[in-house]
Amino acid sequence: MIWAREETLSRQEMEALQLERLKETVFRVYEKVLPYRKKMDEAGIKPEDIKSLDDLKRLPFVTKQDLRDNYPFGLFAVPKEELLRIHASSGTTGKPTVVGYTEGDMQVWTECVSRIACAGGADKNDVAQICFGYGMFTGALGLHYGLENIGATIVPSSTGNSEKQLMYMKDFGTTLLVATPSYALRLAEVAREMGIDPQKDLKVKIGLVGSELLTDAMRDEMHKYWGSDMLVTSNYGMSELMGPGVSGECEYMCGMHINEDFFIPEIINPETGEVLPEGEWGELVITCIKKEALPLIRYRTKDITRLIYEPCKCGRTTVRMENLSGRSDDMLKIRGVNVFPSQIEEVVLGTAGLGPHYEIIVERDGYSDKLTVRVELLKATDSFKELEAIERAVRNKLKVMLGLDAKVMLESPNTLARFEGKAKRVRDLRKEQK
Ligand SMILES: [Zn+2]
Repeated sequence: MIWAREETLSRQEMEALQLERLKETVFRVYEKVLPYRKKMDEAGIKPEDIKSLDDLKRLPFVTKQDLRDNYPFGLFAVPKEELLRIHASSGTTGKPTVVGYTEGDMQVWTECVSRIACAGGADKNDVAQICFGYGMFTGALGLHYGLENIGATIVPSSTGNSEKQLMYMKDFGTTLLVATPSYALRLAEVAREMGIDPQKDLKVKIGLVGSELLTDAMRDEMHKYWGSDMLVTSNYGMSELMGPGVSGECEYMCGMHINEDFFIPEIINPETGEVLPEGEWGELVITCIKKEALPLIRYRTKDITRLIYEPCKCGRTTVRMENLSGRSDDMLKIRGVNVFPSQIEEVVLGTAGLGPHYEIIVERDGYSDKLTVRVELLKATDSFKELEAIERAVRNKLKVMLGLDAKVMLESPNTLARFEGKAKRVRDLRKEQK
């Protein structure tokens, strides 16, 4: 089901709406947000210089560092009294990034999530269990309001206690699961330990997964555990921009439809900042054109993707962003080679005999880097031959995929860490070794 008329506008109608909202936003931030005015003055551009969408590229970028430098409310365009909600994303270092919402922002957020929930197959008859951590993180409450808005029944079970999660799932007849892909797999694993067959004893048919990359291999794994008829779609957002709801896949799973009437996407070369031609891979930059409290302009997401303008079979006309190939932040440089953890994941999930859990360890070995991939066997075995074959297969595939030699360590089933939130699968020990 298509939730909103704006998802089917012609390109011309969409661009007219975007331009009008962009002009309004630029005028407002120039007037109300001092750091923006400074940046724009330095770049020698005034709000009235924005005459077409093409002029967007003349505006300066905003980064996470700008949010940190102006902690907590320095980039806000409204007085604090007008905020209805504050969220924050936990920074790994120092202060968190703080975001705020006016009443209007809350409505836009709810609208955006309603759209991506419908695109992912949800409707008012669904029982939606939200296994994201409630709290300062935007994921849980974002999905909560959007799904509630379309009339679904919400089970706000949050994270933790997988046995209880599964009891609710069974007893309440949960049909839709909101979780990270890795936690969804973990739940299926616990279900089996409890004697519950996720495919026969549970009614879950829709997975709205997010907050982690959903690779094709991971989607296959979801089907293996939850049933091949489960519709697993990924959606995208980040708290700086709003939370979930920036974009989401439809049932055709060919990229995530961007809510373009609220977010203008651009793809840039992450090194030079130059806007790349249509269809090329690069860093996603988003401009929020309808936000009141925190209207970020040209926010550098650090996520690597490309934009797809070809029409989608679902009938939506909004541009799609390809499923992410990895955050430029997450990229590891190992012996001079760029390595995305998602590449290693693809190898692990594509190898028979291995479960979906793994750990990547990078350390300094003399003057060189050493890459170790710990993988978990699906079934314990004493057969040396079998173990050797699996190890060799992973090593060879990694060599082809990355062009690097890696040490592969096979672990017994159920030994690697499981995660309820975002999985932490990379340990880069080089920083500590310096
Ligand atoms: Zn579509």
